Amino acid sequence: MRILIANDDGYLAPGLAALVRACRGLGEIDVVAPEQNASGTSNALTLNRPLSVFEAAGEAVRGFKVVNGTPSDCVHVALTGLLPQRPDLVLSGINNGANMGDDTLYSGTVAAAMEGYLFGIPAIAFSQVTKGWGEIDAAAVAARQIIDRVLAGGMPAGPWLLNVNIPNVADAPRLPRRVTRLGRRHASQAVIRQTSPRGEPIYWIGPAGDARDGGEGTDFHATAQGCISITPLQVDLTDHAALGRWSDLT
Ligand code: MN
Repeated sequence: MRILIANDDGYLAPGLAALVRACRGLGEIDVVAPEQNASGTSNALTLNRPLSVFEAAGEAVRGFKVVNGTPSDCVHVALTGLLPQRPDLVLSGINNGANMGDDTLYSGTVAAAMEGYLFGIPAIAFSQVTKGWGEIDAAAVAARQIIDRVLAGGMPAGPWLLNVNIPNVADAPRLPRRVTRLGRRHASQAVIRQTSPRGEPIYWIGPAGDARDGGEGTDFHATAQGCISITPLQVDLTDHAALGRWSDLT
């Protein structure tokens, strides 16, 4: 089996190295990751300049290929020219912080996995619920267990896309797992306005909102209960229930 691993926090992120270590022995692993932290870049592709690829140096990242672009660029370039063979599985993460509910629309971690999915390859995005890399090795072991479980009966027919959120606890590999739907967040908090040293107004995007729909069955609920959340995702944004409501526009 060939596995492509990417992330959005950049090739030096501890979550990427931990996931790669945890996947040893699963098959041939290629790592293609962004040069810089590209969190929140969603499915962006870089179209206004060429992309460069270099091989990382240093023990923890030896052999990693680094792209000066977005998470989607990494997987796109990997699948369309960089890798000698098409991977059987695309993994992304482990992300520094949750990707639940509406986060999945903004997440570069989910987008890297989704790029594989869009090319017809099964894919899994992994995130830790809390930022800061606490218990990252336990999260990586939990991720490996999920991969092993998914593959236990052979590769399920694809493409499919799973979004996994893992609580930051030392016993993450022993946590119960829940298959969930996405919750919803409240709108983000207000932008933070400051004055630059040159006296001009500058703005920082505010923090994401808290859970608005964190009810039973959601990713928010599962992780709040101390469980690992696994959400199967699809890409079709069509509001199927609303097709009839707008039919008189034709
Ligand atoms: Mn990130």
